[in-house]
Amino acid sequence: MPFAYDDQNIFAKILRGEIPNDTVMETEHSLAFNDIQPQAPVHVLVIPRGPYVTWDHFAAEATDAEITDYTRTIQAVIAKLGISPGEGGQGYRLIANSGEAGIQEVPHLHTHILSGRVLGRMLQR
Ligand code: AMP
Repeated sequence: MPFAYDDQNIFAKILRGEIPNDTVMETEHSLAFNDIQPQAPVHVLVIPRGPYVTWDHFAAEATDAEITDYTRTIQAVIAKLGISPGEGGQGYRLIANSGEAGIQEVPHLHTHILSGRVLGRMLQR
């Protein structure tokens, strides 16, 4: 079944300027902002401006320009936050929860960037 995008989701409303956000960075195709309920000292969400539900939806249907912009925006946020291990930073974790098994709450693709402390093992058992 093809992806059906719900344009009433909260990130769509942020992108339309209907509700505020704490912007970290914005580009032509992407927006990065602080999570409203941070799970770590650093907790930034990066979203594409386009109507994509999950990572695989985005990878299948986004343009090359959108994919490049999104990937580079995540990199630029990591650089801005000073958390790149390659630059002496403490490291980070990227998470893109997708669908029911991933417990995705907002049906607009978002990548969590988490850092600021040692985050523990990848998954709880
Ligand atoms: P997920 O469970 O991966 O779908 O994560 C959704 C994330 O969106 C959660 O970490 C929420 O805290 C975050 N969130 C929900 N509403 C907002 C908002 N208005 N501004 C920033 N982050 C939000």
